Amino acid sequence: MNFHEYQAKELFADYGIPVPAGRVASTPEEAVAAARELGGDMWVVKAQVHAGGRGKAGGVKLARSLDEVRGEAKRMLNMKISTYQTGGLELPVDKVLIAEAMDIESELYLSALTDRVNRCVTFMGSAAGGVDIEEVASKTPEKLVTVNIDNTAGLQPFQARQMGFGMGLNPAQVKQLGKIMSGLYRLYKDKDLSLIEVNPLVIGDDGNLSALDAKINADDNALFRHPELAAMRDESQEDPTEVAASRHDLNYVTLDGNIACMVNGAGLAMATMDVIKLQGGEPANFLDVGGGSNAERVREAFKLILSSDRVDAILVNIFGGIVRCDEIAEGIIAAVREVGVEVPVVVRLEGTNVDKGRELLDQSSLKIISASDLNDAATKVVAAAKEKAA
Ligand code: GDP
Ligand code: MN
Repeated sequence: MNFHEYQAKELFADYGIPVPAGRVASTPEEAVAAARELGGDMWVVKAQVHAGGRGKAGGVKLARSLDEVRGEAKRMLNMKISTYQTGGLELPVDKVLIAEAMDIESELYLSALTDRVNRCVTFMGSAAGGVDIEEVASKTPEKLVTVNIDNTAGLQPFQARQMGFGMGLNPAQVKQLGKIMSGLYRLYKDKDLSLIEVNPLVIGDDGNLSALDAKINADDNALFRHPELAAMRDESQEDPTEVAASRHDLNYVTLDGNIACMVNGAGLAMATMDVIKLQGGEPANFLDVGGGSNAERVREAFKLILSSDRVDAILVNIFGGIVRCDEIAEGIIAAVREVGVEVPVVVRLEGTNVDKGRELLDQSSLKIISASDLNDAATKVVAAAKEKAA
């Protein structure tokens, strides 16, 4: 699960990590009131969307008067933001963060992530922070400092010093960094996060460190332990198809191809996508309808994959182990009738009651192309999609 910057900063503040004072607003008037409350004569107005790269997309602006605050807030609240991090989505801006503007001496980078190779939380830091960290990582990886945190021992003071001196900080700042890292590490563990990114972590003109930006990810599988995090969910920032899928407990991920897939079992779904690619096609989604699928779930799944307008053909690949093929066939028929499918549907059914299932499909008078095995199904669906797209 993703969070807004203002939510992440609230959590940072709870864990003693210094963040610039700020208030969130939903209207230009609230934005002006927020700026007035904060005081000072310069503010930064920041669009709240689930993505970085806002600065370059016009979603982060300095304002030197209350009128400018109002103007920028008004402009951003009417905006949809799409950056290299939004995965093709246009994210609506329903809130802006009004923060005291800082005089920045330099911009650093600090993140914590779950390191699967080393099976621990790893911190990465760099003196070269700001908007282009991806470029730093790929072109000058030597500028990144990495420390692995032992799960049992936790973050050690020497590790924070290693990071701080590696980032070129002075001793007083290294001390501050130690507190920031220990707060971030506690936050990470307490809330079952999978990523924290502070880009930039800045040195202000007073020489002190603070988190100017904040991005966190929480592990969805642990959300049941953190109702306070689950309550922060903002579905307007998510792919609508994926939101609908999660309501029906379907494991769905949008991809950029044109062949929709409906498969039971994550492993079979992966194999199906592989075989589609092997045959020269591109999957439009990953969808695991689950082992215990019934007609109802199949119908919901069909509606889901058809909600994309990119789909040129559908491949249904079901192995009836726990489920019965005749029940799946009924679901497919009901769905195709109800939703009005206009693209070719290739079905490969195998397993319990397969003969009955195929018979139902054959008798349905729907244009369903049946396939004998996975390779056959992939060949047929790739050909059908090519024909449809042509
Ligand atoms: P992102 O583009 O979505 O990552 O948004 P950030 O919050 O990281 O802001 C982008 C950039 O705007 C930062 O790297 C800073 O250079 C600049 N910026 C943000 N807030 C302030 C501020 O208070 N003062 C100044 N001078 N610059 C800021
Ligand atoms: Mn940033």
